Amino acid sequence: MSVKEKLQELIKEAEMSIQLVKNIHELNEAKSKYLGKKGAFQDIMKLMKDLPNEEKPAFGKLTNEAKQKISGYVNEQKQLIEEAIINEKLKSETIDVTLPGKKFEAGNRHLLSQIKEEIEDLFIGMGYEVMEGPEVEIDEYNFEKLNLPKNHPARDMQDTFYITNETLLRTHTSPVQVRTMLDNTEKGPIKIICPGKVYRRDADDATHSHQFMQIEGLVVDELTSMADLKGTLLVAARKLFGDKREIRLRPSYFPFTEPSVEVDVSCHNCNGKGCNICKGTGWIEVLGAGVINNNVLEASGYDSTKYQGFAFGMGVERMAMLKYGINDIRAFYTNDIRFNKQFK
Ligand SMILES: [Zn+2]
Repeated sequence: MSVKEKLQELIKEAEMSIQLVKNIHELNEAKSKYLGKKGAFQDIMKLMKDLPNEEKPAFGKLTNEAKQKISGYVNEQKQLIEEAIINEKLKSETIDVTLPGKKFEAGNRHLLSQIKEEIEDLFIGMGYEVMEGPEVEIDEYNFEKLNLPKNHPARDMQDTFYITNETLLRTHTSPVQVRTMLDNTEKGPIKIICPGKVYRRDADDATHSHQFMQIEGLVVDELTSMADLKGTLLVAARKLFGDKREIRLRPSYFPFTEPSVEVDVSCHNCNGKGCNICKGTGWIEVLGAGVINNNVLEASGYDSTKYQGFAFGMGVERMAMLKYGINDIRAFYTNDIRFNKQFK
C-alpha cells in the first residue's frame, strides 16, 4: 500500500469513527487517537525518513491536508455535540407559560401625599405657584419677620424645638412666604402656596402631633381684598368638600394678619343640620386666614401703601381627617400598612 493510500484509508476511518462519537470526552479520545503525540499520524510520519528526498515535499503536503481534514471532522463533531447539549437543556428547562404567576401587589401613596397633591392641583389651577423651603429655620424668618418679635406673647401659641437660640424647627410654612417676598427683588406681585412639614412642641394625642403638614397660601398684589380671600376659600372648600358647601368667616387673631379670621365650612356629613362630626353646630372649622399685616409686608421690603394681600393656612391632616372620618391624627405616622391600604 502506498503512503497516499494509507493516508486516504486513515482519513476515511477517522471520519467514520469521529461521526460516531457522542460526547466531548469521547471526542477528545478520538482526537488524540488520530492527531495526538502517539496517534496514528505519528506512525505514518515515521515512514517519511525512508522516502527518497524528492518525494518528501509531496508527502509533507499530503499529510498536512489529511491532518486538516481530520481536524475539520473533529470541529464539526464538536459543534454538533454542543448544539445537542443546548437543545437538551432547552427541552428540560422549558417554562410553562400557562402556570399562574406570582402576584405583586402594588402599594399606594400615603393619604397625606394624596391630599397634599389634591390641594396643590386645586391652587395651581387658580394660578398659584408651589414653593418649598427648609424645615430648619432661623428665628427671624419663622417669627420676627412675621410680626412676632422676641418675647411676643403669641409665640406661646407656637412653641417649637430649638436647635440654637436662633435656629429652630419651623412652626408653620410661613417662613417660605418670607423667603419668597425677600427673594422678589422687584417687589412685584406674589401668588404662592407653601406645602410642607411643620413642628410644634405639643404632646401627642388624638388631635395633636409634634409634627404635621401645612399648606399655606400667600397673595400679594395692589388690588386684593378680603372679598378675594373669601372667594378663593369658597372655591377651595367646594372643591375639597363638595359643591353644596358654604363658608363663614369668624373674627380671630393672628399676629401676621389683620383682620384675621377663622374659616368654617358647612358640614359635609349632615349638610348643616348638626351631627357628631360638626358637634351639632352644622359648621366645621377648617383653616385660618386674613389680610396681611402691614408690618409683615414692610419687614420683607414691600411698600404697604402700595401693596396688600391675603394669606391662609390649613392643616393637611385635619383636611384628611374631616374628609375620611379619621379620628386619631397619630394614625398618619404609625406606619400601619392596614391604615394606608384603605386609601388606594
Ligand atoms: Zn354635621
